[in-house]
Amino acid sequence: MFRNFKVVSHVVFGRGCFSQLNDILVPHRQETGSFMVFLVDDVFTERSLRDRLPVKDQDLLLWVNVDDEPKTVYVDELTQRVKTYMKEFSDQLPDGIVGLGGGSTLDIAKAVAVMLTNQGSSADYQGWDLIRNPAVYHVAVPTLSGTGAEVSRTTVLIGPERKLGINSDHTVFDQLVLDPELIADPPTDQRFYTGMDCYIHCVESLTGTYLNSFSKSFGEKAIDLCREVFLDGGPDSDDKLMMASYFGGMSIAYSQVGICHALSYGLSFVLGVHHGIGNCIVFDQLEGYYPEGVAEFRRMMEKHSIYLPRNVVAGIEGDKLDKMIDVAFSLEPLWENALGADWKEVMTRERIGELYRRM
Ligand code: NAD
Ligand code: ZN
Repeated sequence: MFRNFKVVSHVVFGRGCFSQLNDILVPHRQETGSFMVFLVDDVFTERSLRDRLPVKDQDLLLWVNVDDEPKTVYVDELTQRVKTYMKEFSDQLPDGIVGLGGGSTLDIAKAVAVMLTNQGSSADYQGWDLIRNPAVYHVAVPTLSGTGAEVSRTTVLIGPERKLGINSDHTVFDQLVLDPELIADPPTDQRFYTGMDCYIHCVESLTGTYLNSFSKSFGEKAIDLCREVFLDGGPDSDDKLMMASYFGGMSIAYSQVGICHALSYGLSFVLGVHHGIGNCIVFDQLEGYYPEGVAEFRRMMEKHSIYLPRNVVAGIEGDKLDKMIDVAFSLEPLWENALGADWKEVMTRERIGELYRRM
């Protein structure tokens, strides 16, 4: 069966286009008696962007904390806060949700948008195509680029049992506001780690067994843009990085990631290591699997003076290492994409353990 996936229907791109957000939202606002929800990364509480948010008197502005990667309990709590606010509007759903931040905040916005129209806990929907009802209209305004969360049909959440996305056509954003000015000043290391998420997505997709022309077309463009951004630099690097993230996300929509992501999910679940930095820690140990990609990645690290943490896994308790291996080993499509249908003959639990112990 070929996948018939949904894509974002509206995209505005360009320096300063964030100023158009108000106009974009107006047609979605009901004339009276309703509200928009803004879920905004709390890193912006003290920044000038705060004053540019088109929040009206009746709207609900929730500052989102992403010190930890998004958890299902946090999504449930935010959803509940919106539902409590809805009581002031006769239990009417909001006119829309605007997520402004990095991949974590965008994932939270997607998750709240689907959980407002679907019963129960977000943990019940971790998996594939479990969401029944369409989401509330939702808009993404990225402030970091690389994850591809702005285009993907997943919202990655850490639940009680596992780190797994809610994968559904209903999670896909209705509108993107891609303003390169908004990604201009994250800390250098954060920009690098999130940018490398895109680079690694491309390496894994372009070397994978699931590759096809659709995926290759987007992936090759995205990886070229990453090279221009992280090896050449230049005044329009933020514009290029934003588009790399978009193309990288489109590339994996029709293929899959690979070994780095499988191992990185284990790191993140057990040790709480964030996705971007976790990918970099793992990728640096994968020269046996992605020799050219890892060599180029190291040149990029050198150029940006990035020094990865060492001994993150070495010395952890055996049961934690076992759990990490469980999480990584369970991600079968990722291994199959990387190593082919007979991947279990090549990749054993012992081998995964060896790779982890080097990190
Ligand atoms: P993030 O959203 O976790 O943010 C990282 C840090 O940067 C946070 O402290 C945040 O407050 C800060 N930040 C954000 N924008 C900033 C700015 N402009 N200036 C200064 N600081 C800023 O980082 P991320 O790497 O974009 O996202 C990682 C998350 O994305 C993970 O939770 C991962 O699971 C998820 N992810 C999702 C998908 C998907 O398809 N849905 C794909 C890959 C990763
Ligand atoms: Zn990723």
